[in-house]
Amino acid sequence: MERDYAFEALAEVTGTDWNTGRGELNKALALIREESGIEDSYLLADEIHMRAKSYRALMPEVMLTPNALAKHWTRVKVEAKRPSGGTNLHSNRECTTCGGDRFVLVSMRPPVTSAWMREHGIEASKTDLHEEYAPCPDCGPEVVGTPDRAKTRELMSR
Ligand SMILES: [Zn+2]
Repeated sequence: MERDYAFEALAEVTGTDWNTGRGELNKALALIREESGIEDSYLLADEIHMRAKSYRALMPEVMLTPNALAKHWTRVKVEAKRPSGGTNLHSNRECTTCGGDRFVLVSMRPPVTSAWMREHGIEASKTDLHEEYAPCPDCGPEVVGTPDRAKTRELMSR
């Protein structure tokens, strides 16, 4: 039997077993073939690797399955072409706000001496400032418990 490079590529990028996942792989591959219009199995394999890479960059939290790649086939190409800064889903090296760290320093606050510490004669250091970071308001991820974007900007401008 002739090797099906596209099938192998799809199995590889999605970590799908050739045997148990065959049905799913074939179904997704049929959709991808139709969507891409690429007949050549070898060329399509190459394209699958590239799209899987964009998919991972765009949606790092979403599991890459054969079906998901087929479903987002066109979208990942479009999104990947978009200039950076338009989406907060991928790391942004061009970002001048955070320099690509995706987090920004919002404040330096001195540690607080608690009542318990005072009772025990312990004074919090005045020199060891706590650095507080928040997601970059331009490209950072949403993190529960951190200031929202508007608040982060305000804190940064202080
Ligand atoms: Zn940034």
